[in-house]
Amino acid sequence: MPDDTIRVRFAPSPTGMFHVGGARSALFNWAVARQQAGGRFVLRIEDTDEARNRPEWVDGILSALSAIHINESDPVFEGPYFQSHNTEGQREATIRLHREGKAYYCDCTREELVKRTGSQHLGYDGFCRDRGLNYQEGRALRFRTPDEGVTVVNDVVRGSTQFPNSAIEDFVIARGNGNPVFVLANAADDIREGITHVIRGEEHLSNTPKQQLLWEAFGVEPPIWAHLPVIVNEKRQKLSKRRDKVALEDYLAEGYLPDALVNYLMLLGWGPGDNMEIRPYDELEKLFRLEDVNKASAFFDVKKLTAFNGEYIRALPLESFIRACRRWLEPPYAPWAPEQFDEEQFRVLAELAQTRITVLGEITKYVDWLFLDQAPYDEASWTKAMKAGASDILASTRERWSAGEWTAEALKEGLEAAAAEHGLKLGKAQAPVRVAVTGRTVGLPLFESVEILGREKTLNRIDAAAGKLVSE
Ligand code: GLU
Repeated sequence: MPDDTIRVRFAPSPTGMFHVGGARSALFNWAVARQQAGGRFVLRIEDTDEARNRPEWVDGILSALSAIHINESDPVFEGPYFQSHNTEGQREATIRLHREGKAYYCDCTREELVKRTGSQHLGYDGFCRDRGLNYQEGRALRFRTPDEGVTVVNDVVRGSTQFPNSAIEDFVIARGNGNPVFVLANAADDIREGITHVIRGEEHLSNTPKQQLLWEAFGVEPPIWAHLPVIVNEKRQKLSKRRDKVALEDYLAEGYLPDALVNYLMLLGWGPGDNMEIRPYDELEKLFRLEDVNKASAFFDVKKLTAFNGEYIRALPLESFIRACRRWLEPPYAPWAPEQFDEEQFRVLAELAQTRITVLGEITKYVDWLFLDQAPYDEASWTKAMKAGASDILASTRERWSAGEWTAEALKEGLEAAAAEHGLKLGKAQAPVRVAVTGRTVGLPLFESVEILGREKTLNRIDAAAGKLVSE
């Protein structure tokens, strides 16, 4: 391996749904790895927190990555490695630090420490530093932080930060049962995997001086650090899974296109420098520079993402659009029975829908009325459209539509005549008819829709709505 080969890693913990922030980190790492011939993107699953990990989340990580085009089959991809498979290596690393005098065992309890320092909040006071304790069940292993000097963390995004070593406590690297703690496992794995760049979320910043000390203690040159800015919601609060929609899977299930998501996520904390925001991943990948990532928090603007998605939807060839919609035309999304679905009819509506929807999941509601036996009345639409005079409009329209040509144009003329008869504008007159036929006040162009539904069904629906109005 030449010395300057870039090896980045993405190190998720399988503790829940795949977070959009994780997706952003993965994409930035992926871009850095792919920019260099021979560069590698290592996937390491940090699965040592037994209480919180679940194996099914590992599949979730792999499928989410592949949804954003980070594929195991790409030669850049390496792994997945599992942190839990290197427990021995991590233990050996802790023992080595002890052997070299860079770590020591400690049997202080929390209570004793609080009593000595007089505070709940002070770090470890170094009581066991020179007691020369050997390992015994229950004794933690602490890293001997140098007394003097400074640890300088060079971060591509945040610049250089100096941490006086005297302010870094002798932190625990292995628990009383000998198990390495997260900071140690993470650093030991990075070293073992030859990682050159650690590109991760800002929430890990506080671990960085400790991890750098560990790299140095192992005699390995520390990696290039890059801490990505925190992602916030419209209230400038850090995105949280309890409050915000953060799971990549949820966006995919609603019908955000992977390409639109990838494009949008690449712009969270970074920009190409010109105003061209919508562009394919390949272009973004070439333009991406870690040095240009912002320090300031990145606003996850769902409205903007949705607008991106609309653009991506409109740019699809019709065939691809139809294919992309498939998932929402089937159970559990589709409310009609599979045999009620008609491919040819759908194609006609798809073309009309493609210019109007912003997330693919909306397609179901744009077309359901066509495949269901009855109009799926939406209550709010009904109340809004079925005001005084609605039955008159329905009756006049029915009369005009029951004979003559069945084309969008003729249907429009018929409704126009009905509207004129009652002194209404076409828009006003359309509302009750639209609700009678499709169940909703908004939707695809009315006359094209009615043409597809056919005379018999349309007239039946008008009758059904008129009947309902009488009974109300
Ligand atoms: N496993 C950590 C997490 O999911 C990442 C640690 C790292 O990137 O160094 O937050």
